[in-house]
Amino acid sequence: MKIFRTRAELREFVASEKKAGRSIGLVPTMGFLHAGHFALIDMACTLADTVIVSVFVNPTQFGPNEDLDKYPRSFEADCRNSEAHGAVAVFAPTPETMYDRDFSVWVSEEKLSKVLCGKTRPIHFRGVCTVVAKLFHLAQPDVACFGQKDAQQALIIQKMVRDLDFPVRIVVVPIVREHDGLALSSRNKYLSAGERAAAPVIHRVLTAIAEALRQHGMAASSTLLEAGKLELEKAGGVIDYLEMRDADTLDMADSSARKILLAAAVKFGTTRLIDNEIVVPASQTESSQTNKR
Ligand code: AMP
Repeated sequence: MKIFRTRAELREFVASEKKAGRSIGLVPTMGFLHAGHFALIDMACTLADTVIVSVFVNPTQFGPNEDLDKYPRSFEADCRNSEAHGAVAVFAPTPETMYDRDFSVWVSEEKLSKVLCGKTRPIHFRGVCTVVAKLFHLAQPDVACFGQKDAQQALIIQKMVRDLDFPVRIVVVPIVREHDGLALSSRNKYLSAGERAAAPVIHRVLTAIAEALRQHGMAASSTLLEAGKLELEKAGGVIDYLEMRDADTLDMADSSARKILLAAAVKFGTTRLIDNEIVVPASQTESSQTNKR
């Protein structure tokens, strides 16, 4: 396994791989890798000859009161696991190597970033877009894999690539879950035993609402959201949002929406968890026919 610490080392490696005619796959991560990340690496390995995993806890995407300092790390295991899943290199710069001291140019998406997580984390997606743009320039990937777990992030990266003409294919990989439905996340480690036992309620609520929308369409959507919020709160969750958004534009979903992103951010204790479901709701005509039958 090759480990690169500087931008120059990565550039040099990428240049030699390209010269040898090998395609590059990139999997950007913040480390503390789990099966969700492994699914991305596995996917990248099916799509590219040389897969690079970046492990970088990017300070510019954390707000002042967020968990940057205590973000969990397991670098040696990350390297071993990346290799076991077929990656050939890990890029692990320090913040100082990644950002020059007088760094002052940002990539800022200005529509999709304003809602959902962007409301409570106003600088988050600017940090994400900027670091991913830098990684794309350094690694020059033919393909880059992101998780559906961070649905808003995946949409924003796809938009950045389209609007700024990055020559890279973005592949979004389905959410990997624990046996009880909790979406895998590096942050699950912060949960106390009680919070961990309660947290799968997020997935239960999302799947119940999703199923109701698939069966009956959007007519009862606000009642479903209210009931879902009550259930999350009853389990001890503090809701940041539980919303239905158009899955492509992130506009608030209405009865005409064809594909919906049903998304939640809920705190258990101090740990903020996110999850989502993509739903194609029954159309009004279908659902009224179902109701008549
Ligand atoms: P992170 O290290 O949390 O920044 O995540 C790095 C990448 O892994 C992002 O594209 C995430 O969406 C993806 N990812 C994290 N958790 C999961 C999961 N449970 N299932 C699928 N992808 C995930």
